[in-house]
Amino acid sequence: MEGMPPAPDTSSAAPVASPPKRVLLAAPRGYCAGVDRAVVTVEKALELYGPPVYVRKEIVHNKHVVQTLRDRGAVFVDETDQVPEGATVIFSAHGVAPIVHEEAAARSLKTIDATCPLVTKVHREAVRFANEDFDILLIGHEGHEEVVGTSGEAPEHITLVDGPHGVDNVSVRDPEKVVWLSQTTLSVDETLETVARLRERFPALQDPPSDDICYATQNRQLAVKQMARDVDLMIVVGSRNSSNSVRLVEVALEHGARAGHLVDYAAEIDPAWLDGVATVGVTSGASVPEILVRDVLAFLAERGYADVRPVVAAEESLLFALPNELRRDLKARTGVDAASVRRDSNEQSPSSLH
Ligand code: SF4
Repeated sequence: MEGMPPAPDTSSAAPVASPPKRVLLAAPRGYCAGVDRAVVTVEKALELYGPPVYVRKEIVHNKHVVQTLRDRGAVFVDETDQVPEGATVIFSAHGVAPIVHEEAAARSLKTIDATCPLVTKVHREAVRFANEDFDILLIGHEGHEEVVGTSGEAPEHITLVDGPHGVDNVSVRDPEKVVWLSQTTLSVDETLETVARLRERFPALQDPPSDDICYATQNRQLAVKQMARDVDLMIVVGSRNSSNSVRLVEVALEHGARAGHLVDYAAEIDPAWLDGVATVGVTSGASVPEILVRDVLAFLAERGYADVRPVVAAEESLLFALPNELRRDLKARTGVDAASVRRDSNEQSPSSLH
């Protein structure tokens, strides 16, 4: 037909090869020092005192960890008034307000405080600035246990700021005497945005003496940022009530991942998510045992994603001593001071959690 360009000759064209399937695996990922300490605390307490051992709130925000400890005899309660008088209760990694210690003492409970030392650091900052009569703007998520605990240190002085959109409603007594603190598991970028907006309103706003967003939260976000633009799909292993895990999905999407999902278990992955996907990013929140990541890698390998490449953003070696109360009882029983217990994050651990 006149005027029509000749049809291209495709007879000798090579078929277009689809890009190879691969996995980018974030490091660091999974257990942080505070979670490791808290989980080991419950395990050791179960061994030492025998079940039941009561735990106020989820020891860490991970479904698998909580269920496994429950199976071994831990009893999770919402408040100390659900613990029989004189029994042992462990406080979770997220920390508690002073009033919770008082309530436990009133019921003659034996308490073991598994609050992460990096959360305790924020509590101390709150107490110090309250004693100096500052207004404290605590950036965090309303209702999160950590925020409830920190706020309880100085309720008269602390105002919660739940992200950048919460800034306009903040009022303070003296704009010259204001400091901001934060929850340990927030998005670094969003927190900086919140602080910038606060500073527009209160130019004399003081910074915390050191970062409140903890090293583990920062490192896991950093690894995700490094890989996000290269992945078609980011799978974050973690529970929905785990703040740092939820943040990892958000960070991935903000930094270029085309899709992102949070799953507790490999079985929650919808195979349809993999349609047309060449590169899958995998990471896990700070409360997630490595075995759950391995299950996800096995799921992906079965579907052709066997090429796993690490993306290393930082090395971590921090470990925390077990709570003093527990160390004392362990030493009395065994004669050995089990100062700290650290699991290799790549170990199939927690062994007893399996
Ligand atoms: S995420 Fe950070 S603050 Fe929370 S338990 Fe882990 S190290 Fe501690």
